[in-house]
Amino acid sequence: MRSRAPYDGPMTASPRRRVLLAAPRGYCAGVDRAVIAVEKALEQYGAPIYVRHEIVHNKYVVQTLEKKGAVFVERTDEVPEGNIVMFSAHGVAPVVHEEAARGRLATIDATCPLVTKVHKEAVRYAGEDYDILLIGHEGHEEVIGTSGEAPDHIQLVDGPEDVAKIEVRDPERVVWLSQTTLSVDETMETVDALKTKFPGLVSPPSDDICYATQNRQTAVKQMGADSDLVIVVGSRNSSNSKRLVEVAKLAGAREAYLVDYADEIDETWLEGVSTVGVTSGASVPEVLVEQVLEWLAERGYADVEIVKTAEESITFSLPKELRRDLREEAANLVAERGGSGASQE
Ligand code: SF4
Repeated sequence: MRSRAPYDGPMTASPRRRVLLAAPRGYCAGVDRAVIAVEKALEQYGAPIYVRHEIVHNKYVVQTLEKKGAVFVERTDEVPEGNIVMFSAHGVAPVVHEEAARGRLATIDATCPLVTKVHKEAVRYAGEDYDILLIGHEGHEEVIGTSGEAPDHIQLVDGPEDVAKIEVRDPERVVWLSQTTLSVDETMETVDALKTKFPGLVSPPSDDICYATQNRQTAVKQMGADSDLVIVVGSRNSSNSKRLVEVAKLAGAREAYLVDYADEIDETWLEGVSTVGVTSGASVPEVLVEQVLEWLAERGYADVEIVKTAEESITFSLPKELRRDLREEAANLVAERGGSGASQE
């Protein structure tokens, strides 16, 4: 029997090595706003700023903010009385706001406005006495927050296999909503199964799966179809990053892996690989993608082509509590400078 030659890297295996870089990728408007909100709060009020749960699901972002003075906690009652607590981009249930008030905490709510939109839909449909079928992943913070808006009206549907067990009070008064970071295709499978069971099912007035999730999946679908291997930069607790791995494989990539950092890439993944697709989840700063591109370039994959499927220009303003205080601070500064408001330097 012939023994297998030891692996000596991709240089001998790939005729043309290239990288397809998906666009859009990385930070969405909701994550950008949440991260800036923590930074501004630290500047404005000083450390510590307590943050309930990871502000966004990314290890690097959380560690960087910790170094600047953010303290991440799991429960509101871990925050000492009189401090500031920030709620993450994933949103919280009303009961969490009540806990903070009881604990005499000042709050800054960095919930993404697109998550807030789903909360409002839940409140409205519950007010109209609909049964609400929330498509999402059990235990995900966003799902817990949305469910908490109308716990008596909401049932979780975690994929098509859950549909058989769903019962509603009136099949003519039932609506579906969803987590913002799901796979678009899988969600539609679940909706189709629900519609077969409840033909009167009402759809939400607009997409709950957010623009950023949809755009990143569209880009990875196109890029994944032409890639042997896809590397998704993102953390394991990031729902939208995990969905990108699944979408890449469904699109035709032979393999797809999720990595937090370039040094998690295994050299053997490159065996026989000519085209590597690269993308990143909505909570991933671009510096981590750049490190992956450098790592690949050092191994012969220096030729980078952008696969662009959409332009993004959405931005969200900072949480209102911060805007108010920043305005007040600016007004005080103007007053101290004699009311001109212009820099004298
Ligand atoms: S992924 Fe979508 S819903 Fe989540 S923070 Fe970003 S824009 Fe908002």
